[in-house]
Amino acid sequence: MKLLSFTTREGAEAVGVLTADGIRVLTDTPEAQSVRELSPMRRLLKQTGGDISRIQNGLSDYSRTDIEEVVLNVPVPDPTKIIGAPVNYADHQNEMKQDLNIRSLGVFLKAPSSLLPAGGTIQLPYFDRQVDQEGELAVVIGKRASHVAPEKASNFVAGFAALLDITMRGREDRSTRKSFDTFTPMGPWLVTPDEVGATENLELRCAVNNTLRQDARVGDLMWGVTELISYVSSIMVLYPGDIIATGTPAGVGPLLDGDNVSLEITGLGRLEVNVTSSGAVECPTSGGGEWLPSRD
Ligand code: MN
Repeated sequence: MKLLSFTTREGAEAVGVLTADGIRVLTDTPEAQSVRELSPMRRLLKQTGGDISRIQNGLSDYSRTDIEEVVLNVPVPDPTKIIGAPVNYADHQNEMKQDLNIRSLGVFLKAPSSLLPAGGTIQLPYFDRQVDQEGELAVVIGKRASHVAPEKASNFVAGFAALLDITMRGREDRSTRKSFDTFTPMGPWLVTPDEVGATENLELRCAVNNTLRQDARVGDLMWGVTELISYVSSIMVLYPGDIIATGTPAGVGPLLDGDNVSLEITGLGRLEVNVTSSGAVECPTSGGGEWLPSRD
């Protein structure tokens, strides 16, 4: 069969099958409808133009439930993309003995399917490779952004969240090393900019098994939130719900089976996840050297 995605004369997006007798339109089937649906968070971002805080005044009109009664998902479970900032803190550049930083490297993409909610479990894929934690501030885009000037960039932010950019060490492409399923824990929630204030003042603390590994000020980013949005939007259109992971400070280190990782950023809550190596196999790529898991 030949399948087509198209826009009808009426402006509706549709999917169909090309036959000798024209296109059979499948979009009206229940299966197609359910797949097309955006997550409730992305619908909310679209409906509010990214300015979620404007619903604040009418909150009491909505139905209510207790947080103990629900299972938290990733704040944005279905972004069109996750953009990462490599080597965006000077102290992390030093610890990695890197010649280059973001000013040379630009940004990279992580697979959205790597997202993991707070309370989830990171799955170490290989028993013979090192995987590190990287605590980071995440920016969630609120409305379509293209070629945005730095001084206007804050208008495009829906909110901020804690994010772990879990990373396999080695010389495979970053999109490989950072895109394993469960390698992007994010949450527990999204906090609107009015409540966060100036991101430069945020403190980031990441611990493994309650031992502090990373302790930094977001103000030490080489490219801050507005510079990042401006730069990324000069390359690719940013859509509501897209996530920018702003980079990690010094203190990254290996994760092992049974570890507990927690990331706290001022005002953004506590993101906590576990680690398992159950099901790990031998790595099919070499990484260009020795990258055995070890505790320093
Ligand atoms: Mn990172």
